Amino acid sequence: MRDGAARTRADLAAVTGLARSTVAARVDELLATGLVAPTGEAASTGGRPPATFAFRPGARLVLAADIGVSRARVAVTDLAATVLAEAALDLAVADGPVVVLDAVLAQFEALLERTGRSSADLAGVGVGLPGPVEHSTGHPVSPPLMPGWDGFDVVGYLGRALGVPILVDNDVNIMALGEHAAVWPSVDDLLFVKIATGIGAGIISHGELQRGAQGAAGDLGHIAVPGGPDTPCRCGNVGCLEAVASGRAVAATLREKGYDVATNTALVELLRSGNTDAALAIRQAGRSVGRVLAACVNLLNPSVIVIGGIMAEAGEHLLAGIREVVYTRSLPLATQHLRIVGAGTAGRAGVLGAAALVVQHVLSARQVDQLVATPAGVA
Ligand SMILES: [Zn+2]
Repeated sequence: MRDGAARTRADLAAVTGLARSTVAARVDELLATGLVAPTGEAASTGGRPPATFAFRPGARLVLAADIGVSRARVAVTDLAATVLAEAALDLAVADGPVVVLDAVLAQFEALLERTGRSSADLAGVGVGLPGPVEHSTGHPVSPPLMPGWDGFDVVGYLGRALGVPILVDNDVNIMALGEHAAVWPSVDDLLFVKIATGIGAGIISHGELQRGAQGAAGDLGHIAVPGGPDTPCRCGNVGCLEAVASGRAVAATLREKGYDVATNTALVELLRSGNTDAALAIRQAGRSVGRVLAACVNLLNPSVIVIGGIMAEAGEHLLAGIREVVYTRSLPLATQHLRIVGAGTAGRAGVLGAAALVVQHVLSARQVDQLVATPAGVA
């Protein structure tokens, strides 16, 4: 019913193959939770017209936070992951979990107030963090840019404050989920690549996010570029994609040529200015990304690769470099219908994905079963 279309009990029995009495009982339970509401009557085929019902996304709210190294975006959404209120805040993730999460909690409260709803309407909270996260516990694991966060119980901390399920994942995974849900819902195999200060990827295969055994799947940044230079990487290896093609690497190349690119904003401005050195540097970075992605394409056979992150906002040269290599280096069968595109969610992928993570969880069959067993306090 989550597509929002109005259906009768008979429609639901036909779609599910369940007995009409079973469907009628389940519809009554769902009506009691508020997740489903009556929408009127279908056209009669003689006799009393049958009542119709539809999913009510506004029945509950989701809080979503996309926490970056120096900024966070937070939002209140409904159960269709439609943003109802949102805000951006400047923060330093290096200030540690208590300072950062308290700032996010304060912002959540302000946003809830703006929607005119209360915390009693909350279904759950989704959080993206700029480092590796152990999915089963939601704990950050040795995050390189996040001192004080290693093993911190984000789920427990926010759970004590809000009393609802808390889901935590790394920022690239939630961006992949957000871009997939908002722009490519009918695509089953999608690769989301974030190219910013660092480089990472979120893998969606068979419509599901793939995290790997330890949640480390998609760490493209530390794959060596085939035939690339032996540039030392912060991970201790040499020749990693991140050391060769990240925003940090492109800025270093341009600094050597005498350009002042102290901040990401200055770098993106130079890249957009039409400067030839900048265009060459970013296209070369795109080719390096393409060399690693060509192997990923052969391995995973995605139908869409989305390039996001601040470097993707610097114009077409990055995408051109990536396409040039992927289409010549990957197998023809794998690239036949492959599209390589920029992100379509304009910086919102993270909050949309954090919301999608929560919606998937709270509307899973198991959670809905639990809810109908205790249908109390729903708006
Ligand atoms: Zn590395």
